[in-house]
Amino acid sequence: MQPQMIDYTAIKKILEYPKDIVVVSHRNPDGDAIGSSMGIRRFLEKFGHNVKVIYPSDYPETFSFIRGIEQCEIYDSDPELCEKAVSQAEVIFCLDFNALDRIDKLGVAIENNMGIKIMIDHHLDPEPFSDYALSDTTASSTCELVYEFIQNLSEDKKLDREISESLFVGLITDTGSFKYATTPRTYEVASKLKAKGVDDYQLNDYIFNCMSHKQMTLLGHCLANRLEILPQHDTGIIHLTKEDYENFSIGRGDTEGIVNQILMIKGIRVAAFITEQPTIVKLSLRSKGDISVQDLARKYFKGGGHKNAAGGAAYAKLETVLDKFKSVIPEYITK
Ligand code: 5GP
Ligand code: MN
Repeated sequence: MQPQMIDYTAIKKILEYPKDIVVVSHRNPDGDAIGSSMGIRRFLEKFGHNVKVIYPSDYPETFSFIRGIEQCEIYDSDPELCEKAVSQAEVIFCLDFNALDRIDKLGVAIENNMGIKIMIDHHLDPEPFSDYALSDTTASSTCELVYEFIQNLSEDKKLDREISESLFVGLITDTGSFKYATTPRTYEVASKLKAKGVDDYQLNDYIFNCMSHKQMTLLGHCLANRLEILPQHDTGIIHLTKEDYENFSIGRGDTEGIVNQILMIKGIRVAAFITEQPTIVKLSLRSKGDISVQDLARKYFKGGGHKNAAGGAAYAKLETVLDKFKSVIPEYITK
């Protein structure tokens, strides 16, 4: 099945009468995943739909300021409840991911659901699992596309300050506060959202000035003891071992943003944050300009993402993954 393009007339009809709707986003939900799903939830509720937001794993504490987020369901905490909700859903929105393997076992539940599936996403290489797809890799964020979705349904009146703030969260987190991945449209959407009353100063403060002492200490450890520069390849790598996870009691969200620090070094064009997890080694990659870490992640680490921000994983020893990454990186560096 090829994913259908979005058909707003059909979607208007689908949303016309109250339905059971599930909104799903990806594992380790980030600001865009959370902002888009919470925004669309409130939007859909305005039609009278019964909406449940499900994440495969828990959300970072940083986003607990978003009103109603505590009502979302976490698959890891209650798989039966989540599977039941998915199986009963008449409509499923899949936001900020485009392949069912990004949501683990929830992917199987979605595959088995016979309802209508609508994907809204901005990652490369979408898989054809949905009935309707608003898939646009030129968008800064899924939140930008949710704004477009609401406009194309001619439902701007339903876009209140709260929905606008949720969507703004994705805009600022996926662009690093408008530092990358922006287009003229990103600023247009930001302007329209701000006109709806978004307090962007407050949002930036909530999201970017929220490190705990522990996180700051961990960042110090990463920069002082775990940063390796490959000057000949304009690349920086930070790795964390299982022992680091124990010693620093690293929890969900504690490592957020560390990879971006590496790109602050002059001349560095590729940043890799490689972590030893209980069963896998996870890679979080960033690049500048034409270097595609998406291609690298897809080709060598069963991953994907965007050209300049991607990730992947390997079932191997940390040392093996570090060696493999170092051996493939020259292929991507053109001087
Ligand atoms: P992060 O490094 O912030 O976890 O992820 C950066 C980007 O890469 C995000 O857009 C994310 O969706 C994508 N990404 C991260 N890990 C994976 C992965 O294992 N597989 C795929 N397909 N994409 C990933
Ligand atoms: Mn995103």
